[in-house]
Amino acid sequence: MNDIKKLWFLKPWLFSVLFLGIYSSLFYYNVLSIGILEKKINIKYQDIVDITKRFHGYYINSNTVTIEEGIHNFNNVGIIVNKTGEVKVLSPAINLLSQSLLKAIDKKYIWTIAVIEKLHDKNTGNSYFLPLRDIYVKFNDKTLHDSLMLDRIVKLEGLDKTYKGFHNDDIRITEVYTEDSSNERVHSVIYPIYLKSKLVSVIIVDIKEGWNESLVTDFSDKRWVFITRDKGFDWATFNIKVPYTLNAPSLMVSIDIFKLLSVSFYISSAIYLFSIFLYCFYLKINNIRCNDRMTGFFRRDFIESKLNRVEGASFLIIDIDHFKQVNDNHGHDVGDRVIQVVTQRIKESIRENDIAIRWGGEEFVIVFYHMKHDFFHQKAEMIRERIESERIENMHITISIGGSKQQYSELAFDAIKRADMALYQSKNTGRNRVTLDKNEDNA
Ligand code: GH3
Ligand code: MG
Ligand code: MG
Repeated sequence: MNDIKKLWFLKPWLFSVLFLGIYSSLFYYNVLSIGILEKKINIKYQDIVDITKRFHGYYINSNTVTIEEGIHNFNNVGIIVNKTGEVKVLSPAINLLSQSLLKAIDKKYIWTIAVIEKLHDKNTGNSYFLPLRDIYVKFNDKTLHDSLMLDRIVKLEGLDKTYKGFHNDDIRITEVYTEDSSNERVHSVIYPIYLKSKLVSVIIVDIKEGWNESLVTDFSDKRWVFITRDKGFDWATFNIKVPYTLNAPSLMVSIDIFKLLSVSFYISSAIYLFSIFLYCFYLKINNIRCNDRMTGFFRRDFIESKLNRVEGASFLIIDIDHFKQVNDNHGHDVGDRVIQVVTQRIKESIRENDIAIRWGGEEFVIVFYHMKHDFFHQKAEMIRERIESERIENMHITISIGGSKQQYSELAFDAIKRADMALYQSKNTGRNRVTLDKNEDNA
């Protein structure tokens, strides 16, 4: 029971402080991680941009072959030839581009790679698709012959004059949009190719919107954070800038507060329970170290050195009367049980702050602090009466008590010696009695 009382930290406010500490640290860690997520996403997009740009040299230097008007398939690349004539051999490069992109992005997130040429001069205005979907064929019929369409896209993305600037971004990533007919949510990497200041072609890599989601989820899983692509509370929602986008469209992410709350709760509960377990373990060990197993009283060898520091205390020394006879007549086990009952009754008669020590086999010392003389005597009598009040193991057991009050600057040992002398007197004057050392009166 004493030990349970020692669990002073078992208080709700302490758990709340722990919980709040863990919650705010985790929240702060999540906020810091958003900056890192932004960098990671930027690096990923940069990879895609760098890979796409490599196509430029290949395009400029590619060979041509004569192909008839119509739809053709070379190396899985669908080629729509609008007018019989010279057609660039781009399918190996488009496949290479696709292979290279797979190093930076999972295959399932690449929707389409397309090269669309503009109709002018010698250019026959062909288009290349990996894969070629029906909708592109229809789309091609309707709009690709509109030679201004590419100019419009390029102008819209602010790519119409970039070849003139030394450091201008000549590539763009569009905002997410829904592709006509397929209803696929994608954003496109758009890379125009100019020849002698003229737009000749646009390379388009369509990336599914799900890629962003996967980048955020992968990052969250790896770093043990709770960042999602959904909108959350305003104060927990952040915008991540996507590179190469015009007018800085951004990716909205938020910290999942409910998840954060539940994880904080689990962690703080685990720490709290673990510290209770550790503390109980410590109490148990301490109990074994300081307390006598049979009686639960302090062990003399543990407490003796500490008694030097005691001041203003009163001491009782208690010895069971004729205990040898108990052992001799009923055996040691009965003797042990008698000791246990006697000490239990002593424990019930004193307060928690009083110190009970197993001084010898069936001899005990009790230390009281700041106890008035009259009360000290009453207390000793009370203990004596309590022992003889009920039979133990069907025997009338009594104790003899000697007492002393520590005098100013007297060592505890000297006071105990005086109590021992008083006990001797109790034994000599018939046992089952209390004798307080005569110096007591002067104390
Ligand atoms: P007195 O009234 O003068 O005290 O007589 P007594 O027989 O009690 O004498 P004393 O106090 O010297 O007796 C101590 C005996 O207590 C000796 C020893 O065998 C016995 N004893 C000491 N420790 C234990 C114990 O842990 N268990 C048991 N069963 N007996 C013990
Ligand atoms: Mg005895
Ligand atoms: Mg004894």
